[in-house]
Amino acid sequence: MAIIGIDLGTTNSACGVWQDGKARLIENRHGELLTPSVVGLDGEKNVIVGKTAKHRLLTHPTSTVGVFKRLMGTKHAIELGDRRFSATELSAFVLKSLKDDAETFLSEKVEEAIISVPAYFNDNQRQATKQAGEIAGLKVRRLINEPTAAALAYGLHERKEGTFAVLDMGGGTFDVSVIEYFEGVMEVHASAGDNYLGGEDFLEALVSDFLAKHDLKKEALGKEDLQRVYETLERVKCNINAPWSSRLELTLAGRDIQFEASGEWFKSCVTPLLLRVRNPIEQALRDARIPLAEIEEVLLVGGATRMAVFRNAVGKLFGRIPSSHLDPDLAIAMGATVQAGLKARDETLDDVVLTDVCPYSLGTEVVDPGGSGRAGYFLPIIERNSVVPASRVETLQTVEDNQKQLQVNVYQGEHRLVEKNVFLGSIDVKVPHNKAGEETFDLRFSYDMNGLLEVDVKINSTGNVINHVIEQSPGTLSNEELEKSKARLAALKFHPREKEENIELLSRGEHLYSMYLGHERTMLGELLAHFESVLDGQNGTEITKARQQLKELLDAMDKGPLQ
Ligand code: AMP
Repeated sequence: MAIIGIDLGTTNSACGVWQDGKARLIENRHGELLTPSVVGLDGEKNVIVGKTAKHRLLTHPTSTVGVFKRLMGTKHAIELGDRRFSATELSAFVLKSLKDDAETFLSEKVEEAIISVPAYFNDNQRQATKQAGEIAGLKVRRLINEPTAAALAYGLHERKEGTFAVLDMGGGTFDVSVIEYFEGVMEVHASAGDNYLGGEDFLEALVSDFLAKHDLKKEALGKEDLQRVYETLERVKCNINAPWSSRLELTLAGRDIQFEASGEWFKSCVTPLLLRVRNPIEQALRDARIPLAEIEEVLLVGGATRMAVFRNAVGKLFGRIPSSHLDPDLAIAMGATVQAGLKARDETLDDVVLTDVCPYSLGTEVVDPGGSGRAGYFLPIIERNSVVPASRVETLQTVEDNQKQLQVNVYQGEHRLVEKNVFLGSIDVKVPHNKAGEETFDLRFSYDMNGLLEVDVKINSTGNVINHVIEQSPGTLSNEELEKSKARLAALKFHPREKEENIELLSRGEHLYSMYLGHERTMLGELLAHFESVLDGQNGTEITKARQQLKELLDAMDKGPLQ
């Protein structure tokens, strides 16, 4: 029976199977290799996964979720409509969708898998990933570290022993791993990262500069106008390697704007971000105690590494051209599949992580560093990927006159806003009355190998210290909870494939409808209404015809305004 290799990613997932001596990636129900890691529930409590759910993120934000991989291994409940799920359960939905697609592709049952996890995942997060597999009906034969998977995809295990760097830049984060292959074992020596450096930050830099150049303020633009700016500049970003400039024509806040998005303009916007690429690389090399000159090959994974400016910056740093002949979005899934192939022949390559690192950033709530005075902002104290045990201190101050009490709220996560992170606990401390900012306190976080977080608050004027230990509730399930979860999820329905495609087209259409105006909007509205009425008629041939017609229009509109 086949073992599939799975990349269970933050934004996208993919899977493959070892066939005829090579890794073969599996197309999903939409004929695509990437399945967005997005899950939703529709009005009839049917589970929707992947591309269909991704389009519903915009049209049905309260019953659709993405980026839950960051919550793996926590007990944090994620709301989906009126139901609540753990990240493990949501991941199980994605895995089940991949499993179903693999079964259709292979025309046989699939019950075993190898799943990739970030090198910095701790035991808890690894266990949660295995349990997600089990809930989805997959026995997880083993987990593979993502950088190791990248190395296997590039076939480094067949070519040479040596030391390599894997650079992974996705939508939100940049991760660097230094790995060594020696005597049949792939060791991840160190991982370091920047939690706020990813493709989305490059896009944000373009949007800010574009708006500033045209005297436009985000707050003053309507939601649709702003969405259009983001979508247009995302297209510019993804096509920036082309030798020509993109000429943009947009109507924003009633003004017609024309703009030449040249390579030079792009570069000037993103240079500050490119300068930040160096830090985590240096940090990982330092932690691994390996000089840069010993790195024999640099591998790129993650969609944002496609940008030529990124490749050039990395090339300059390492003094060598990074290897990038594999699709950076698919390399991890290919590597997990290579491991599945080795496993099937009982030849698995061993894969170990040497460093013990903190899997999430731990920090506290502070007022807006931008000066608006609003609370709700996250100040990381121990950054994700810090080698543990770690102990860090930050000095903070009171924010109100005559403040009597401090409330220190503790969170884990990578988001700038605390509400998007996981709340771990709160400590109340009395402070002497004084003017705002006059009382300072040292906030010390100490994190150990067992996942215990110790928080000390020291009021500097009195020397008073309050100590509080936060035990992170492990997000892994007991056997009983696992069975319960399986039963709960088994009671939910998945749409038949055919129906899912229709829902996907409708939500894509609804989204485009909100983006366009005038003639195009009218035409789309008519076609959507027609499609809905054909669906009601339940005539298979008619539905196929109407679906094709709608799809052609949506594909054309996706490329930009119709001529
Ligand atoms: P991932 O999480 O690995 O799928 O990476 C997603 C990020 O890669 C997003 O920010 C995308 O905008 C970015 N990305 C994907 N394709 C390209 C491309 N051709 N050029 C630049 N960025 C890209």
